[in-house]
Amino acid sequence: MSGAYAPAVAPREISGRGVGLVATRDIAAGECVLRERATVCGTSVAFRDSACARCLAFAAPTGAPLFTCATCGLAKLCGGDTCAWSGAPHGAVACHAEGLAKGLPDADAERLRFLAACADLRGEHSASSLAKLRAVAALCPAVGPNGEGVASRELEAARRVHPVLETAVARALAGARRSAPVGEETNVARVAGSFAETASLLSKETKNAFGAMAPRDPASGDRRVRGGALYELASRVNHDCFPNVARFDNFDGALERDAFVTSQSGANDFLNLVAPDELRLMALDRIPAGAEVTMSYLPVTEPLARRRRRLRHTFGFDCACARCLLETEWAKQDGDRVGDVAEETRAAGGRVSANDDAVRDALATEMDDEDDARLAGLSPEELERRSDRLPPEYAVWFARNVCPVSECGGTLAPPNETATHMTCNACGFRRTDAAFYASLTGEEAP
Ligand SMILES: [Zn+2]
Ligand SMILES: [Zn+2]
Ligand SMILES: [Zn+2]
Ligand SMILES: [Zn+2]
Repeated sequence: MSGAYAPAVAPREISGRGVGLVATRDIAAGECVLRERATVCGTSVAFRDSACARCLAFAAPTGAPLFTCATCGLAKLCGGDTCAWSGAPHGAVACHAEGLAKGLPDADAERLRFLAACADLRGEHSASSLAKLRAVAALCPAVGPNGEGVASRELEAARRVHPVLETAVARALAGARRSAPVGEETNVARVAGSFAETASLLSKETKNAFGAMAPRDPASGDRRVRGGALYELASRVNHDCFPNVARFDNFDGALERDAFVTSQSGANDFLNLVAPDELRLMALDRIPAGAEVTMSYLPVTEPLARRRRRLRHTFGFDCACARCLLETEWAKQDGDRVGDVAEETRAAGGRVSANDDAVRDALATEMDDEDDARLAGLSPEELERRSDRLPPEYAVWFARNVCPVSECGGTLAPPNETATHMTCNACGFRRTDAAFYASLTGEEAP
């Protein structure tokens, strides 16, 4: 990224919410608030044969298919110019980790690949690689020198995965030694990092990685994630169930289409070279200087209880945004769930040992299904009563910003500050402002 680029946001301590990003100046609707490349990317197990191990693209920017790393014979790489990194196809530790990952359960294989990418940053030991590592270390949660602050799930995972990481590092160093003399600093402990660092990195990955979406499963129709990516600044944006920015990624080249490049800041400097791992946050509305910039970590269409459960399980907080407070009031009046921890404890009926992921996931699915069944059983009159009580500004927000494509769940945002249309950050659907206003009048006309 060029040195001249200055984002319109900066990190600040937000009372009660940790570090967030605030607008450093007035931001217009449709402005790009932040653009940056990922510090680290990792593919999910289901997509390791179809997504680039370093940038998560499904094909090279030229359209050429991915190739297989000749050294490990496993990792797929796009070979695009914007994906190249220090000449090596992918990092030496990442390369050795590929073979070792095959023997691990899926979640641990993904953890190992992420840790290996971090170890390669340590091993590379350049100013830019160390800056990336520092950027990851600066993300939440705060972790003490002995792993204090790391959730038990990540601590246990670190115990399983750290020794495998050390093996990958040892093999990478042994491989390097055959061809090049080894400096005294290149030893396993330095490149692999300590157990506490592993635990810390895993907890930062869990809380801060953005999912890179993939096409839905053709059989089940389920959403799928091709991998995850961490960002120095964007990963610090706090959640709100009514966000003021939408995240657009470029893993499939979306930022090279649909008017993202014609903003009045004019310069087409990145017209021909938008990296697959570049992310942009686009302002949905005007954001005044000093206001916090927020995004939704989940599709904004998710119902209250499910949304709050997922936010707590994955990100570790109870959402108390204005929308959640209002909808919690309604849920209590209606006798519906609100997604809090007390409810979960009751539903578990003693089944849950706090850290058993499988039990907890099963419980969450059960509660989601019960909530869905309850919603599906509501009469048309009751549904109408519920939609009528939406405050007008919420109703307008949903009409304007929620993608109308069935089941998409994406957010519509203007692709630049002079655009006369909005575009979906998930499916690319495009709607002109004229069509939107016509639909509003159409609805109100009869
Ligand atoms: Zn790539
Ligand atoms: Zn390899
Ligand atoms: Zn909320
Ligand atoms: Zn969409």
